[in-house]
Amino acid sequence: MSVPLLDLSRQYAYLKDEMDAAVLNVLDHGWFILGPEVKELEEKLAELSHVGYARGVASGTDALLLALFAAGVKPGDEVITTDFSFFATAGVISRLGATPVFVDIEEDSYNIDPKLIEAAVTDKTKAIVPVHLFGQLADMDPIMEIAKKHNLKVIEDAAQAVGAEYKGKPAGSIGDFGCFSFYPSKNLGAGGDGGFITTLTDENAELLTILRNHGAKPKYYHKIVGFNSRLASIQAAILLVKLPHLRKWSEKRIEHAKKYDEAFASASQITTPKVMDYSTFHIYNQYTIAIPNRAELQAKLNEENIGCDIYYPVPFHKQECFADLGYKPEECPVSNKAADSVISIPIYPEMTADEQQSVIKAVLSVCG
Ligand SMILES: *Cc1c(COP(=O)(O)O)cnc(C)c1O
Repeated sequence: MSVPLLDLSRQYAYLKDEMDAAVLNVLDHGWFILGPEVKELEEKLAELSHVGYARGVASGTDALLLALFAAGVKPGDEVITTDFSFFATAGVISRLGATPVFVDIEEDSYNIDPKLIEAAVTDKTKAIVPVHLFGQLADMDPIMEIAKKHNLKVIEDAAQAVGAEYKGKPAGSIGDFGCFSFYPSKNLGAGGDGGFITTLTDENAELLTILRNHGAKPKYYHKIVGFNSRLASIQAAILLVKLPHLRKWSEKRIEHAKKYDEAFASASQITTPKVMDYSTFHIYNQYTIAIPNRAELQAKLNEENIGCDIYYPVPFHKQECFADLGYKPEECPVSNKAADSVISIPIYPEMTADEQQSVIKAVLSVCG
């Protein structure tokens, strides 16, 4: 049986009437950018994230860009981040003229290893960007401790972790800023690009509100040079329909993950994703296994039309665009190993039991 890696049409079929009405309503009222739906969504997202404020922006990448800018990251600064993530995490640091400093990951969580951060701090370090990869938070307590000691800002890249929790605290509520993406493949996906930033203080919220609109306050008066990064009302309208279902969808992902865990428990070649003690709600944006014979498994899944992808095949320190940073290929050994062995398989909430059985059978036929 063919199984897609993700099938958004099922989510749409489930919510079609409500979603159609919400979109048509925006077409009717015509306030397309930062309209009333955006304001309502921001209030609900702030509540979900246990923070004072959420601000909608044009993408998850922009969420990171604006948060780093708001945190005062400037050309010449250094920003410490993980070596293993989606490109945007590192790209925005360079885009601001700062230098990304890559730190290796923990073998069990694929997230930045807090034990290695302090050695990377210099007098140029301005901020730390931990990524909550695959839907599980990085180990935030030691990260916040190091940040406090060295007076660094912390920007959580929570693009894959909306609604996930660390010791009961939601993603985006721990650092100075939390950055989220509404890219359609994220757990809370829009009908296009979008993102949001969470923050605890009204000063930060005010700054983000100005930054996303060219730094203007009032209109046409510019104290700072900002960005054009605003959330469209149609996206917010779609997200308002989906948001009440998010928790249930994440729980469904957890159920699928448990089934996979059990099915793969006796397959000694397969490393299933580990839920860390501090991770009180892992939302499985991806279910990522590690195996030595990945190419063989990938070929088998392709042959059976079972969706899979490799997040991520190249660690940051080996990316061509970062060659001038002078990392050696063998640096960050844990991240190197992950890049060579991980593969993500279908985990979307609407996947049927039969479909999951097909995935399990195909995986075990190669790695059993
Ligand atoms: C998706 C993602 C982003 C970027 O979000 P976009 O909305 O695609 O710009 C940033 N960081 C991580 C870890 C992501 O997964």
